[in-house]
Amino acid sequence: MTNYVIEPAQQVSLPVRGSDAVFPVRRIYCIGRNYADHAIEMGHDPDKEPPFFFQKNAENVDTSGEFPYPPQTSDVHFEMEMIVALKSGGVDIREEDALDHVFGYGLGLDMTRRDLQGEAKKMGRPWEIGKAFERSAPMSELVPAIDTGHLDQGRIALQVNGAERQIGDLNQMIWKVPEMIAYLSRFYDIAAGDLIMSGTPAGVGPIERGDVMIGEVEGIGSFTVTVV
Ligand code: MN
Repeated sequence: MTNYVIEPAQQVSLPVRGSDAVFPVRRIYCIGRNYADHAIEMGHDPDKEPPFFFQKNAENVDTSGEFPYPPQTSDVHFEMEMIVALKSGGVDIREEDALDHVFGYGLGLDMTRRDLQGEAKKMGRPWEIGKAFERSAPMSELVPAIDTGHLDQGRIALQVNGAERQIGDLNQMIWKVPEMIAYLSRFYDIAAGDLIMSGTPAGVGPIERGDVMIGEVEGIGSFTVTVV
C-alpha cells in the first residue's frame, strides 16, 4: 500500500440507478455552445465555429440536491445539460466506435458565474473562474445505457420555481455524442470515468437563493436542485 505524506483526496463518484456500485469520476469535459439557439442567445454564429471544450474538476461534482450560492459573483446562471459517462476510452476513436465507450447518461447543471466568465472572455483569459468552482456541477445518478439505449433525441428542459425556463431537444445538438467523443480523443487520452457535459439549450438565466430547479431529459428522468 502506498505511504502518502498527506491523506489523498477521496474518489468522487456518482450513484448508478439500480445498483449499489458507484461510478468513479475522472475528468469532466464540457462543450460550449452546442445548441444553435443558445449560441445565438450568447451572441455567436453557430454555423461558423468548430467545437470547443473547457473542463470542470471532478471535485466540483455535487449530488446533494443543494447548490450553495457561490462567492465573488452576483450573476450565477443555470445551464441544463445531459451528461455522458464513459466506461472506457482511448485516442483517435472513430465516430462509429464511439458509443461503445459510453457507460450511461445522467442529468447535470453547468452552473456558471456569468459575470466572471464574461470578464474572462473580454480579457481573453481562461474560463475556470466562471465555470470550475466549488459545487458548480450538480448531477443526478447515472442510468446505464443498457437501460436507456443511446440517447440522441428527446426533450431536455429546466424549470425554475415551476416555470419552464429552458426547453430543447437532444436532436438539436450541433455536435452529437459520437462526434464529441471522437473529437476529444484526438486531443486527449480520454478514459473510463470521464464525463462529457453535452451542452445547454437556449433559455439560460440567473438564479437566487431559494430557487428550486428541476431538470429533465426524456429517457433519464428528472432531478431537483435547490439554491441555498
Ligand atoms: Mn454549459
